[in-house]
Amino acid sequence: MSESEGQAEARSLDAEDPLRGFRQRFVLDDPGLTYLDGNSLGRLPREAVETARRVVAVEWGSRLIRSWNDGWIDLPVRLGDKLARIVGARPGSVLLADATTVNLYKLVHSALAIRPDRSHIVTDDFNFPSDLYVLQAAARHSVTRVAHTGSTPDVEAIGDAIDSRTALLTLSHVAFKSAALYPMATLTHLAAERGALSLWDLSHSAGALPVPLAESGADLAVGCTYKYLNGGPGAPAFLYVRPELQGQLANPIPGWLGREDPFSFDPEYAPAPGLRRLLTGTPPIVSLALIEPGLDLVLEAGLPAIRAKSVLLTEFLIRRWRDSLEELGFELRTPAEPESRGSHVSLGHPQAFRICQALIELHGVIPDFRAPDNIRLGVSPLYTTFAEVERAVEALAATVTTGQYEQFCVGRPGVT
Ligand SMILES: *Cc1c(COP(=O)(O)O)cnc(C)c1O
Repeated sequence: MSESEGQAEARSLDAEDPLRGFRQRFVLDDPGLTYLDGNSLGRLPREAVETARRVVAVEWGSRLIRSWNDGWIDLPVRLGDKLARIVGARPGSVLLADATTVNLYKLVHSALAIRPDRSHIVTDDFNFPSDLYVLQAAARHSVTRVAHTGSTPDVEAIGDAIDSRTALLTLSHVAFKSAALYPMATLTHLAAERGALSLWDLSHSAGALPVPLAESGADLAVGCTYKYLNGGPGAPAFLYVRPELQGQLANPIPGWLGREDPFSFDPEYAPAPGLRRLLTGTPPIVSLALIEPGLDLVLEAGLPAIRAKSVLLTEFLIRRWRDSLEELGFELRTPAEPESRGSHVSLGHPQAFRICQALIELHGVIPDFRAPDNIRLGVSPLYTTFAEVERAVEALAATVTTGQYEQFCVGRPGVT
């Protein structure tokens, strides 16, 4: 079969890709698989296999309790400093701990406590459900959830919702459904001008694009490490606190590891002087250690190169959508301008769920499905190829033109 125009273009884009060598640094044991779900669970870095062997067999197996003093105890801070370089933060302002949701809980409650005379929280309906649940449960505070239409947030409406009663503005930097990218600096300045604190969820931007945490003056941030940072399933998340604020925050889940000198075993709590006060209990060392190889790969490639490739990949995907998918009923649900989106593209289709099943079962293409009718195609610049994007577009077209999706039922399994 001769090469199509799309395939030829993909081949030449792959040949010119300055990051093409990074793909081999990941475990790729199924050459037929097209993986466009790195925005949900990043691939396994080869180096992490070696790290796992070392941490389990040597550090745990041989060194046992001595490993705490050989580096385990400092791991949340040491890896936090590496991650700080990825999210535009200064050393000493990022900590790895807990799940994103738990970190959000800690930061939301500690932030509200330092704005005691204000009782409003501003967020929007593009934010991640878990974030909204934490906010809804914040006692005595009323939550304004700004509503948007389409795939682009109404930044002006968010701004208008912030007033002298607002204690906290909290948003996702990149929206999990539409991939809309928010103007962090603009909104952070606006919140600060009106006396409110700002908290950003970086789950869909950390490792995919440069994040201006320190530069924008953002007060607080959280994010996960298992998406574009390739840290592994359920790997600990991270939290950021602007250095000037660290001494003011009280951890709402105070624990022994966040105490000043934890090994004093003092029955009275006294917070550690800086960021460490936000630690609670013993970190899950095995999964924490596995985050490092992914961070190293991002630092080696560099955020500017990663972002440049991400933009080319999503541009290519949107161009191919226009060529062959729009006429088949797929609707673009991601901002069309590259500077307004992150690293995935969402396509709406009335048969989205069954189309996703057909892609996985019949074409070896893994997207993800977001209810009710959304197909997310994530591109992860360290390993996604333009050829994979082209294969996904061709498979999407084929499932609809041949009616293949009709053999799949409409019910939903546990994890999408
Ligand atoms: C993936 C994701 C999370 C994950 O939260 P966990 O508590 O770590 O499971 C949180 N927020 C956003 C915006 C996400 O995309």
